[in-house]
Amino acid sequence: MKIGFIGLGNMGFPMAQHLLEAGKDVYGYDVTENYPDGVIACPSAAEAAKERDIVITMLPSGKILSEVADQIIPNMQKGALFADCSTVEVDTAIEVSRQAGQHGLDFIDAPVSGGSLGAKAGTLTFMAGGEESAFLKVKPLLEIMGGKIIHCGPSGTGQAAKMCNNMILGATMIVTCEAYGLAKKLNLDHEVLYNVVSQSSGYSWTNNAYCPLPGIGPQSPADNDYKPGFSAALMLKDLLLSQQASKANGFDAQMGAKATEYYKRFCEEGNSNRDFSAVILALLE
Ligand code: NAD
Repeated sequence: MKIGFIGLGNMGFPMAQHLLEAGKDVYGYDVTENYPDGVIACPSAAEAAKERDIVITMLPSGKILSEVADQIIPNMQKGALFADCSTVEVDTAIEVSRQAGQHGLDFIDAPVSGGSLGAKAGTLTFMAGGEESAFLKVKPLLEIMGGKIIHCGPSGTGQAAKMCNNMILGATMIVTCEAYGLAKKLNLDHEVLYNVVSQSSGYSWTNNAYCPLPGIGPQSPADNDYKPGFSAALMLKDLLLSQQASKANGFDAQMGAKATEYYKRFCEEGNSNRDFSAVILALLE
């Protein structure tokens, strides 16, 4: 099986490495021309996509995905599959799927959760939207790069699942950090609070698995000076996508809106490249 891989950045690079380790032929293209050993470097996105069975994209935004889709769709062979793993607008995913369909291609939107650590470990969660037959075709590849592969429904529902998940994640991280800030004011030991919350109804992934304080709970970016992990800039990106989708559908996601404003301010204050759990630092002052 010949695989095209376009966008080999923080996420795409280690994902492609897993495909290589599994013995796949990977034809890559990135504007930086920085590739893992073993990738067959191509001079353009169109060349990386030509004559491949499956083309994977892992790009920064919906705008760039649309541009790359315009370049690769006409060059892909009929019956091939286009799997986009970037996080983009639901509408963009649906539009690219429509264009792919017109050229006789299958399309799956398959954004991921798990961050760069998950990409390196091969433990990403993939949330896939598209036809069942296309999903079954791409699933074995996603299993090489990830731990959990979930078919969410028709085109766009992978992106919908991703933005709903990250709306929960952003808001939960903020309130988890606020709880530790309040505990400090109330002279409640942080380790004790962790033990209580992680076994009580306030438990959450942000507390139990990704505690925003160093030395408490499993290793997390807090133990590495808040280097991402998952950057505040990417959290803001995903929250903005969820707000845009809420507004477009006449839905009032108030906590999501508050979390969006919170991360917007946090990023404007110069914290874009810190892990999104670093919001705790100002709350402990
Ligand atoms: P990144 O910026 O590190 O990688 C994107 C890559 O795309 C870069 O190497 C860039 O050079 C390349 N690129 C840009 N325009 C291109 C073009 N026209 N043709 C070919 N290559 C092009 O970003 P990332 O962190 O790898 O994230 C990729 C996607 O995954 C994003 O949509 C992001 O929201 C999502 N995501 C990231 C994380 C994370 O923790 N980094 C977690 C989950 C989801």
